[in-house]
Amino acid sequence: MGNIVKIRCKNCNIEQDIKIGAGIRFCNIEIIDILFNKGMTQKLKNTLDRNKGMTWFVRKEAAWCPSCKKIVECGVLTLNSADGKSGVYRSKCRCGSEVNLLTEDHACPICKRKMELTVVGHWD
Ligand SMILES: [Zn+2]
Ligand SMILES: [Zn+2]
Repeated sequence: MGNIVKIRCKNCNIEQDIKIGAGIRFCNIEIIDILFNKGMTQKLKNTLDRNKGMTWFVRKEAAWCPSCKKIVECGVLTLNSADGKSGVYRSKCRCGSEVNLLTEDHACPICKRKMELTVVGHWD
């Protein structure tokens, strides 16, 4: 289950509700097509077939799209190989731009002040 958080910067008048974490369907590999591009599930399946013992995990994070100038949801796929290596893949914004994940301290991407984060609900 994930949280729905309201992310707000009073200074810049940004306010956005974002789903973060992992939902029930997120252990189903087909979710990769939905979060990323069509065909990505198949690519992941192929990668898993080639790499014995590799595991994957996907969740949603809050990110900033520099083109849309707003906070968006980003799919984050983590692959862990049997020998301990890991790789992280992020989905793009709907507009096609690369996004930047929000920093740990939730600094506003525009003014760098700390943004308010409030959990407003749950999703699964
Ligand atoms: Zn965008
Ligand atoms: Zn700001």
